[in-house]
Amino acid sequence: MHSPSAASDDDSDALFGLDALGPEPAAAHPSRPSFRDSEAARRLLPVREIHAEPAAAASPRGRQIIARFPQARLVEVESHWGIPGLHGNEGNVARWVRVKGETLVLGERKSPRTRPNGRSADWIAPGASNGCAMACAYCYVPRRKGYANPVTVFTNIDRIIAHIGRHIARQGPKTEPNQCDPTAWVYDIGENGDCSVDALICDNTADLVHAFRRWPTAKASFATKFVNPDLLTLDPRGRTRVRFSVMPPEDSRLLDVRTSPVDERIAAAADFLDAGYEVHFNLSPVVLRPGWEDAWAELLTRLDDVLPDRVKRQAAAEVIMLTHNRELHEVNLGWHPRAEDALWRPDLQETKRSENGALNVRYAGPVKAQAVDRLRTLITARTPWLRVRYAF
Ligand code: SF4
Repeated sequence: MHSPSAASDDDSDALFGLDALGPEPAAAHPSRPSFRDSEAARRLLPVREIHAEPAAAASPRGRQIIARFPQARLVEVESHWGIPGLHGNEGNVARWVRVKGETLVLGERKSPRTRPNGRSADWIAPGASNGCAMACAYCYVPRRKGYANPVTVFTNIDRIIAHIGRHIARQGPKTEPNQCDPTAWVYDIGENGDCSVDALICDNTADLVHAFRRWPTAKASFATKFVNPDLLTLDPRGRTRVRFSVMPPEDSRLLDVRTSPVDERIAAAADFLDAGYEVHFNLSPVVLRPGWEDAWAELLTRLDDVLPDRVKRQAAAEVIMLTHNRELHEVNLGWHPRAEDALWRPDLQETKRSENGALNVRYAGPVKAQAVDRLRTLITARTPWLRVRYAF
């Protein structure tokens, strides 16, 4: 089997400028007003403060973003990491959700790196952002920056794309199919955020989607909980996989704060397929609570009822059991304690200290194995067309 190379990259220069990346979404469809200019988008992201590294603020992408939010106060910061009063500040817990919508950070990715994965994707690409404007109670994304982690946009998108292009070129064609994809090397472009939300801020997501159109041996992939109609204008030509995350709506209403309702995500699947995306589903996270099996059975039945055949024919799913974290549990108790009734189940979970010293929590082996089996059985019965790429 052809083994992907994990060799490091020489990222000394960008290979092209932003103007080489393709038309902006609005220009591609001049008659369609951008969703990101709508009142609904402004309500989700009423940006009042932009913390920016000087080089990021001066870059073309940085200038575009600052111009989009003229009312926002610009604060110069040395680094997008460890911003005083923003990251790791427990005082923000009470304002957690507000900070996510009202604050942006602009920084530069200093040394883009691609890491092997093998589960959801062949590779984890260096993301064009870190952080999210939504506030799912189980989300691992805030852990690295701590507490309220609003979106950090990396403004040197040209360098990130140049890095990915070189990485793809080094792999050559994919000669053996695997569960990530039969023919394309799959690159996850949204490990630490939600690309659909990023597209409310700037064209980083559009630039990545356009870049992957040029790479016939590779495919971009990202999970999302937000339906952003602007993505329908990007013309991905089958080279980007959108993975809509779904869970029973009653769980989502409790846990997925600020996201699009699950029904909206399901309803969007056909539109995204027709717009040129591959559409998969993340059944995630699976939260074990009284009645979870009935709730998932109902959700799967809904997928079967609502999705047209053309979506079903190409769909596949990842099943991801909840993992949680003691620090996040403690933070959540400060702003959303009801979520913890579902997420924090010491009777079912075991803790494991990760390499960075964090105490991660997951369902104990036998509990998890039984739940995955049960879910697979439900999928076979309710959505036999839904291939499970992997369950974890
Ligand atoms: S949408 Fe994704 S990245 Fe954003 S808060 Fe929810 S789980 Fe985290």
